[in-house]
Amino acid sequence: MAIAYIALGSNLGDRVSYIMSAVASLQEKGASVLKQSTIIETDPVGGPPQPKFLNAVVKIETRLSPVELLNQCQGIEKELGRVRDVPSGSRTIDLDILLYDRLVLDTPRLTIPHPRMFERAFVLEPLKEMEPALLEECVHARHKIR
Ligand code: AMP
Repeated sequence: MAIAYIALGSNLGDRVSYIMSAVASLQEKGASVLKQSTIIETDPVGGPPQPKFLNAVVKIETRLSPVELLNQCQGIEKELGRVRDVPSGSRTIDLDILLYDRLVLDTPRLTIPHPRMFERAFVLEPLKEMEPALLEECVHARHKIR
């Protein structure tokens, strides 16, 4: 079993519902949700002008491989009506894999740890709330790796 952390974000429609539906879908698709952070409201970073986001992070336990987990996350985005029209534009739901055990992976389709997670307060804040020691550990590991 692997432990992974997934970031969720929504800035269109009923944002709380989208986040809650995505968490429920993760449970149905092979990820047991062990912990969920508080949902926070954040300003959009980059992209065109758009509404504020709601963000949260979940800790999951899973037998899915990293790519299988990405496939499930993208399936959930599709089911919840995410349309990829404008790059970095508004979305009903976005799921990003932040960490997967201590795996370091850099492939065209999947980079773990998520390449922008350390710059994003909307990821770091919920993660820190949930696992204060973990973040410290990753930052050290990252300095050693890169
Ligand atoms: P986004 O538009 O932010 O949802 O980015 C989606 C794209 O990022 C997809 O093409 C994924 O293959 C790619 N990607 C790379 N690393 C990750 C990751 N750790 N989690 C989710 N998507 C990733």
